[in-house]
Amino acid sequence: MTAELGTAEERPPFGDAAYDFRAAADPAPMLIDSPHSGRVYPGDFRAAVPEVVLRGAEDWRVDDLFAEAPEEGANLLTARFPRAYIDPNRRLDDIDPALLDGPWPEPLNPGPKTHLGIGLFRARTGDGKPLLDRPLAVADLQARIARCWKPYRRVLREKLDAIHARHGAVWHLNVHSMKSTGTAITPDGPGAERVDMVLGDLEGRSCDPDFTAFVAERLRAFGYSVSVNDPYKGAEILRCHGDPTENRHSLQIEMKRALYMDEATITATVGFEPLRRNLRQLVSAVAAWTRRAI
Ligand SMILES: [Zn+2]
Repeated sequence: MTAELGTAEERPPFGDAAYDFRAAADPAPMLIDSPHSGRVYPGDFRAAVPEVVLRGAEDWRVDDLFAEAPEEGANLLTARFPRAYIDPNRRLDDIDPALLDGPWPEPLNPGPKTHLGIGLFRARTGDGKPLLDRPLAVADLQARIARCWKPYRRVLREKLDAIHARHGAVWHLNVHSMKSTGTAITPDGPGAERVDMVLGDLEGRSCDPDFTAFVAERLRAFGYSVSVNDPYKGAEILRCHGDPTENRHSLQIEMKRALYMDEATITATVGFEPLRRNLRQLVSAVAAWTRRAI
């Protein structure tokens, strides 16, 4: 591990520091959350792979791409812990018992993500190789849940509820980046070519289809190719927070990493700034749309 990833002595306490939240100065009834861009690697996390492979699991700098969202009216929540450490977009029982050094104290229900090695605790790299070289201690994993998963999900719930209580509606963008081609651990399989942007609304169950259509139209106006619910429909955060029948609208955005980064070296390309500018305009347009809708 390099100094950038931190040492045991520098281990962050997390808890309230598991996330950053920035309120909009002039808030629209909307919130953006980036659950996978955290890059503070705690000292108790030891991966069996080189840093460049490990960091390929991050939705690299998606938080930075949306950093100006509060200036445009969006509240912004970003995780600080890495998704390889614990994934806030998974169920708490989505765990492979084979990863553990002992019995888990509650019933487990490993789902398809765990079978791909990307459940609550990540077990595989992007190309399907083992990420870990030892069993994980049950007590350590319970501490990760208490210090990272729960604070993140709690603040996400509280902020969305507060907006909904005030306006009777809330719009939520759950933002990610995706590898530019499919891999052994993605639904579309190795080598599958991807569009620039994939919107996911759980087939219309996590937000009003008009909202999905509006965001798709805005993204296409920038010149991006867009697909909806293919290959990504959305995951646990959308399932828990999106309910259009209650005027709770959650939409997932997956951005192709080749738009802004070199995936082999984990560095920004000349595409980073244009994408950042376009996303700022997108947030501005969504904020205006949500203000008109309440
Ligand atoms: Zn992600």
